[in-house]
Amino acid sequence: MKPFYLFLLVSVLLQSCVSSNFSKTEINRISNGMATKPMRVFLITKKSDSLLLRKKSTPFNLKRNSDLIQKLAKRMLATVQDSASLGVGIAAPQVGILKQMVVVQRLDKDNEPFEVYINPVIKKYSDKKRPCPEGCLSIPNKRAVTLDRAYTIWLEYETLDGLHKKEQVNDFVSVIFQHEIDHLHGILFIDHLLQEMQGK
Ligand SMILES: [Zn+2]
Repeated sequence: MKPFYLFLLVSVLLQSCVSSNFSKTEINRISNGMATKPMRVFLITKKSDSLLLRKKSTPFNLKRNSDLIQKLAKRMLATVQDSASLGVGIAAPQVGILKQMVVVQRLDKDNEPFEVYINPVIKKYSDKKRPCPEGCLSIPNKRAVTLDRAYTIWLEYETLDGLHKKEQVNDFVSVIFQHEIDHLHGILFIDHLLQEMQGK
């Protein structure tokens, strides 16, 4: 075998070993464009997309694949801020990546920045509810008011720098977090509407 092909083989093997945090398909989806390029948003109106949107995501190990994780974060930021999408939040499954990452627009902070949250977990929900009009980038032409969202949540997550943080979030931004973190468990906001109808 020529040295060049041997080198190629070794680097491919090494790559698949190092990248085992992501599936091959996921690596392709993240790598098939520049960091500034929006990713394709998965839609429930498309059968294969809707099957993926109903799956559970797995946590990240931030010590591995850090370049790929950084790129995914940048591309998710580009996607949610894309003029074709324009959301206030997005979760990794919505771009076909079954990993625990969400982007939330912090409307409660100065300049309303979009921020990246890794392995987010809601530890506690307030009893007080916050009725909220919701829509979803993955569910075209549907908006409705959910009635069962908590007004306050207590959240734990990791940052892209690997810091573990705890935070209390209120009001509309709390609902954005609940909506996006639901996506990591295969739950969509229309499920909350069904629950409300069945509860009546
Ligand atoms: Zn959504």
